Amino acid sequence: MDIAEKIKKYREELPETVKLVAISKTKPNEDLMEAYNAGQRIFGENKVQEMTDKWEALPKDIEWHMVGHVQRNKVKYMAPFVKLIHAVDSLKLLKEINKRAKENERNISCLLQIKIAEEDSKFGISSEEAEEILKSEAYKKMENVDVIGLMGMATFTDDEKQVRNEFQYLKSVFETLKIDFPELTELSMGMSGDYEIAIECGSTMVRIGSSIFGERN
Ligand SMILES: *Cc1c(COP(=O)(O)O)cnc(C)c1O
Repeated sequence: MDIAEKIKKYREELPETVKLVAISKTKPNEDLMEAYNAGQRIFGENKVQEMTDKWEALPKDIEWHMVGHVQRNKVKYMAPFVKLIHAVDSLKLLKEINKRAKENERNISCLLQIKIAEEDSKFGISSEEAEEILKSEAYKKMENVDVIGLMGMATFTDDEKQVRNEFQYLKSVFETLKIDFPELTELSMGMSGDYEIAIECGSTMVRIGSSIFGERN
């Protein structure tokens, strides 16, 4: 299947409640245009510089999502256009996003990344830390940043049961936080290898790269 066929396949397969974020990191603009011409409008990248270059070159109705770990000194480069930042893991980062969004007279939506995997390499905060951020006076005062949900990455393993447990845990954190923070509506979980389990566990956003665009080098 080529890229356009993959996009169409996912559009048919995914429930209407689940958004497809096409993860195009390392891929050339021609590949993104193939997906775009098949109707895809949401693209995700994990490096600010690469996303900014692509934003400059590609059609302006693309919604750009930053899915990677963000360094605070890079926020200013994407602040004029980024739609959703998936992996926010500190109040300090949120403050910087708020500041740069304000400078650009816009609002930027964010997700808090919760650590659900066993591996040390995966970033993220605990459910308690997420609650602390949402309840903080500092966050309440931020006018240009909106935390609209949570994101998580499961352990990279063949053990489906473990992956399911981790996604179910994230879903339960999401439901608990929603009681006090009903503005949390998005749950970003699921990648090429585990998106089906993620959807069964309540994902509203899947981040799919290699199974649309092919393996990365
Ligand atoms: C690369 C990446 C993905 C996509 O991974 P695939 O396995 O290629 O689908 C999803 N989420 C994040 C945060 C990524 O960095």
